[in-house]
Amino acid sequence: MSIGIEELRAEVGGSVVAPGDFGYDRARVVFNGMIQRRPAAVVRCAGVEDVRAVVRAAAATGDGLAVRGGGHSVPGYGTADDVLVADLGDLSGVRVDMQARTAVVGGGATWRAVMDATEPHGLATTGGLISTTGVGGLTLGGGIGFLSRRFGLACDNLVSAEVVLADGSVVTASESSEPELFWAIRGGGGNFGVVTSFTFRLHEVPQVVGGPMFFPLDDAEAVLARFAEFIRSAPREYGGFPALGFAPPAPFVPADRVGEPMLAVVSCWTGDPDEGLARIGTFREVAEPVAEHVGPVSYAFLNSANDVLAPPGLRQYWRTAYLDEIGDAVAAACQRFGPSLPSAEATVHVYPFDGAVHDVPPEATAFGARDAAYVVLVAGIWEDPDDDERGIEWVRGFHEAIAGDARPGGYGNFSMGDGASPGGGGADSERLRAAKRLYDPGNVFRFNRNIAP
Ligand SMILES: Cc1cc2nc3c(=O)[nH]c(=O)nc-3n(C[C@H](O)[C@H](O)[C@H](O)COP(=O)(O)OP(=O)(O)OC[C@H]3O[C@@H](n4cnc5c(N)ncnc54)[C@H](O)[C@@H]3O)c2cc1C
Repeated sequence: MSIGIEELRAEVGGSVVAPGDFGYDRARVVFNGMIQRRPAAVVRCAGVEDVRAVVRAAAATGDGLAVRGGGHSVPGYGTADDVLVADLGDLSGVRVDMQARTAVVGGGATWRAVMDATEPHGLATTGGLISTTGVGGLTLGGGIGFLSRRFGLACDNLVSAEVVLADGSVVTASESSEPELFWAIRGGGGNFGVVTSFTFRLHEVPQVVGGPMFFPLDDAEAVLARFAEFIRSAPREYGGFPALGFAPPAPFVPADRVGEPMLAVVSCWTGDPDEGLARIGTFREVAEPVAEHVGPVSYAFLNSANDVLAPPGLRQYWRTAYLDEIGDAVAAACQRFGPSLPSAEATVHVYPFDGAVHDVPPEATAFGARDAAYVVLVAGIWEDPDDDERGIEWVRGFHEAIAGDARPGGYGNFSMGDGASPGGGGADSERLRAAKRLYDPGNVFRFNRNIAP
């Protein structure tokens, strides 16, 4: 059945932008500039009723519906050729309930909106490290951030969600209502329905101590070894990670060192400030930083300080790995591949994946892969399409260089869809398939790390 664009226009309150319409080329783009798809129409949903209408229209075609939250999916799951896209960008409201210590967050909100609403109350929850990333895709696929060692993944802080199912009905998923759906959406991605609002648990995070310390690549081995030793006994108030990248043109970086490949330790400490400064300072015992910018700062500021490195439209190719420990291969790969980083934005992050993330039993949520100690992100980023081959080769080269130390698979939200499965590789896949058969037997929601019903 073909898509009745005119019927849809008459039914929904939001805009329906089809090929040939003014604004189509802006409406169809997503964050990754490499993804250039041409949907049949982009429906900017104005509310839950619009979401229901577009789900019903897409289900009737049999061709599926692409759902877009923040549009940050690097494989471009928030869009697809020739089908309807439900763009949730206007479902971006955030309401803080001080009594319950929760935030009700629209399904298309970004982490910026969450932080803007929660920070004035000294509250926060685990969110992404770039504030323009969507709450939707990040939470449904797990959600790693500065606060995950202390408070768990973003999906671990979910109290409930309002979900539009494939038949257009609306349900609440929580521990007590549709518990199997609630299990599945915490790690199983967008496979089960459109989440129109998320309710998150909030925590007191009045101020943090943090920022980056940049070390020369010659010291990568010593710094990574110290990081591994440090993290084994670090209190959960510590939530930082080592990062490979070019030293930025920031005022605290000596002018003659800008653009040099370096290993940074990016720290965030949510406990007593003096203790945080002392603990973070211990990295100076193994090597002398070339530059540093560590001090008291608001969590929201720290958690968006790298936004400048993530403008929309650049070309992105990513790989991911799980590690049990940071072995010598990571330091060797940083030294070998650091000088040829594809751009000032390209980076490798090694996130500790312990603390509160390990408190949650693997079977409690669909995000099952919880026993690794680190998640690696190899993010190839560049601007010129002529650099595609070189950029992709660089990412694959780095990834292969650490493969000997890595487990199979990786964190789904960091993958191109070619190796990491829904649930982070460790979920009960038969249980996920059963949930898919129950909630979306026709696979209306197929533009994601798809679970075949
Ligand atoms: C610059 C950048 C920084 C990042 N930083 C982090 C980070 O710090 N931590 C981390 O864990 N990950 C991070 N990621 C990865 C991120 O988690 C994924 O890219 C995630 O898919 C982004 O969600 P989104 O809503 O922006 O994406 P979209 O492209 O809009 O959606 C991604 C997938 O989720 C589905 N989806 C989105 N919203 C909904 C909804 N409301 N209901 C149902 N399905 C929905 C979509 O259908 C699609 O399948 C980052 C990505 C980028 C590009």
